[in-house]
Amino acid sequence: MTQPLTNMQMRDVEALLHPYTDAVALRQTGPLVIDRGKGVRVWDDQGREYIEGMAGLWCCGLGFSDEELIEAAREQLGRLPYYHIFGGRSHEPAVELAEKIKELLPVPMARVFYQSSGSEANESQIKLQWYYNNAIGRPGKKKIISRIRAYHGVTIVSGSLTGLPANHQDFDLPVDRIRHTSSPHYWKDAKDGESEAEFVARLKADLEALIEREGPDTIAAMIAEPVMGAGGVIPPPKGYFEAIQPVLDAHDIALISDEVITGFGRTGNWFGAETLGMRPRAFSMAKQLTGGYAPLSAVAFDGDMAEAIEANSGRIGTFGHGFTYGGHPMGCAVGIKALEIYQRRDILSNVRRIAPKLHALLDRAAQHPLVGEARHCGLMGGLELAPPGRKGFRVGGKVGPRLSAELLKHGVILRPIGDTLAVCPPMIIGEDDLEALFAPMEAALDATM
Ligand code: PLP
Repeated sequence: MTQPLTNMQMRDVEALLHPYTDAVALRQTGPLVIDRGKGVRVWDDQGREYIEGMAGLWCCGLGFSDEELIEAAREQLGRLPYYHIFGGRSHEPAVELAEKIKELLPVPMARVFYQSSGSEANESQIKLQWYYNNAIGRPGKKKIISRIRAYHGVTIVSGSLTGLPANHQDFDLPVDRIRHTSSPHYWKDAKDGESEAEFVARLKADLEALIEREGPDTIAAMIAEPVMGAGGVIPPPKGYFEAIQPVLDAHDIALISDEVITGFGRTGNWFGAETLGMRPRAFSMAKQLTGGYAPLSAVAFDGDMAEAIEANSGRIGTFGHGFTYGGHPMGCAVGIKALEIYQRRDILSNVRRIAPKLHALLDRAAQHPLVGEARHCGLMGGLELAPPGRKGFRVGGKVGPRLSAELLKHGVILRPIGDTLAVCPPMIIGEDDLEALFAPMEAALDATM
């Protein structure tokens, strides 16, 4: 029996179209209306308390209502609530944040460019690649390689990069210059009896064959998340990036690391590229850049690109790309504070200390008959819902939402994506709260069977 909708829920379904939601089903259940948050917990509009095991949408690494972040936003709003950095204007928060980002990146990066979201960051990345290749006289080098199960956003270009069916179905995205290579999901995609090393060799061969087929001179870049997030929390098999990096280097194909989830400590290093052995020429960052407190994203790219792009803007008379809210002063001020807090409170050490505990809890949950595999890297993880031993078995995206609804009854928020239950707690979480997050897991899995 579904409960009658509250007044707020009725107002909601009449007023909003929700992202990633079955709007017809929502009319029956109504949304969960969240009212406030503190630390790793949120409360709904009926006063019920939840542990937020997804850090919102993988973004609130410092938890909810952190006083220092609030104060940074307040201070900047009082001083300069808005200014842009177009056409010869600037402001200190934009400069200072860019300097800090450059200091933290694992390889030297020359310039930072701002947007408001992860999708826009990847939109900028691809436009930068096209502009750059025109600028250096390689107009034919334009195609971009992405991967099946990748998630890079939902705008027309970033949505085309995304390799998930639901983001394409009925949207008619023009995928003209984008090619998808194999997904690095060993559990699902390895052939029977294939070792992890053999699987990596096959992925490398697939990539080489794709490059050969298309022609290396037509391919500008490959974009990859260090750990696939919204595609189902998929850390690559051991040695994957080490195997494909030389293939890209041999054909002068730039690697773009999409660090929208993995950036700023999530995998135990500042960037997932460090954890996974990537050597990117460009980075996309968002989410934990401001701890989720302000919509801000950044891309960073290397010196060769910067030089060519800047020279081309001189030839044309402008760099004809930019967003009204790119480098928003309040977003940048919050970003500066977030990065300072990650360093001062040594959040990366907490991630490294607590990650083995999360991994153990996920591995324990994987003993349940409804779980096929536990996956984890740093403070992110996923449970693949399928009976053990049934490799490749699909529960069809129906079981995750039921499990998530069961967990909600126990005051736990975790997110179903496809057949995976994703876990990505705030990076400030302690052992007790992590235990509390998993305490109802077995009962919830039993009730879902
Ligand atoms: N790239 C990655 C790796 C993401 O996980 C996401 C969002 O989850 C995006 C890009 C898109 O970001 P946004 O939703 O801010 O547009």
